[in-house]
Amino acid sequence: MIRLSEIRLPFTVAEAPEAPLRAAVSQLLGLPASDIAHIHVFKRSFDARKADLLAVYIVDVTLTQPEREAALLARFASNPHIQPTPDMAWHPVGQAPADLPLRPVVVGFGPCGIFAALVLAQMGFKPIVLERGKTVRERTKDTWGLWRKRALNPESNVQFGEGGAGTFSDGKLYSQIKDPRHLGRKVMNEFVKAGAPEEILYVAHPHIGTFKLVKVVENLREQIIALGGEIRFEQRVTDVIVEGTGDKRHLRGLKVLNQATGETTELAASHVVMALGHSSRDTFAMLYQRGVAMEAKPFSIGFR
Ligand SMILES: Cc1cc2nc3c(=O)[nH]c(=O)nc-3n(C[C@H](O)[C@H](O)[C@H](O)COP(=O)(O)OP(=O)(O)OC[C@H]3O[C@@H](n4cnc5c(N)ncnc54)[C@H](O)[C@@H]3O)c2cc1C
Repeated sequence: MIRLSEIRLPFTVAEAPEAPLRAAVSQLLGLPASDIAHIHVFKRSFDARKADLLAVYIVDVTLTQPEREAALLARFASNPHIQPTPDMAWHPVGQAPADLPLRPVVVGFGPCGIFAALVLAQMGFKPIVLERGKTVRERTKDTWGLWRKRALNPESNVQFGEGGAGTFSDGKLYSQIKDPRHLGRKVMNEFVKAGAPEEILYVAHPHIGTFKLVKVVENLREQIIALGGEIRFEQRVTDVIVEGTGDKRHLRGLKVLNQATGETTELAASHVVMALGHSSRDTFAMLYQRGVAMEAKPFSIGFR
């Protein structure tokens, strides 16, 4: 496939861009329109800096004779806006062995824990997820309890519970992070599979949309469970069990408090993803006391 970028068309084409895009691509590549089999819009943004508003496209083009693409690309090799479409597929980094001794554990079921658990499940590792808060529906009630009735549940609120912090936001999905491995694409594709609007794959400033996140999060949970994963709510990790000394120190398990019953049990584990977010001060203090390396993260702050 050939990727063409910086295709600038009048803003008015955005509603039905197929024909103008085909004409523009045909002109840029110097080919009759009939040689173009398919045009896929990879990204669409708007340029509103001048009076004439523009829609700016990045597209991936397939020719009716794909074997001609290499020669065409060679002809445009020095043009930064006509390049091969990069491989954006997610490639699993491994596959679980048939005799997995211990299942990996993911602590926290916010965005980080959800995607850690999802990719582990997709690679066959059947992860166990421990989340101190409640399911997203229960958590919604508790969060509104604070906003409407000033009743705070310290374990189920806007920060803690299925979906993590930001679940009750409009779900902005853009950042300024560079993504040369296209890992963000994997995240977007999974969101769409879980019910997010398809336009998040191509608009420049994608949003999932207020309250749609709740259903998306539930669908991601169901997918993890269908792949053999397990998600345990109201389970707070209170300690890590470490054996050995010096270089020989290794993780043997976790102490887990069942918040519903008040009972603490031990869960054997050798591989744990701590996807804690930034509000779990008790857990950070515990990890610090246990000698886990930590460093302060720089942050930015704005004033008006
Ligand atoms: C109101 C609000 C709106 C936001 N809007 C957006 C937005 O539109 N777009 C955007 O990109 N970002 C937004 N953010 C930021 C975004 O929510 C965070 O960057 C993101 O949630 C971080 O994900 P995480 O998985 O690292 O941590 P978190 O989402 O904080 O998840 C951590 C999870 O771990 C659980 N946990 C913690 N300690 C333990 C323990 N000891 N045992 C078991 N479970 C534990 C917590 O209960 C929590 O569910 C918003 C944040 C807030 C607060």
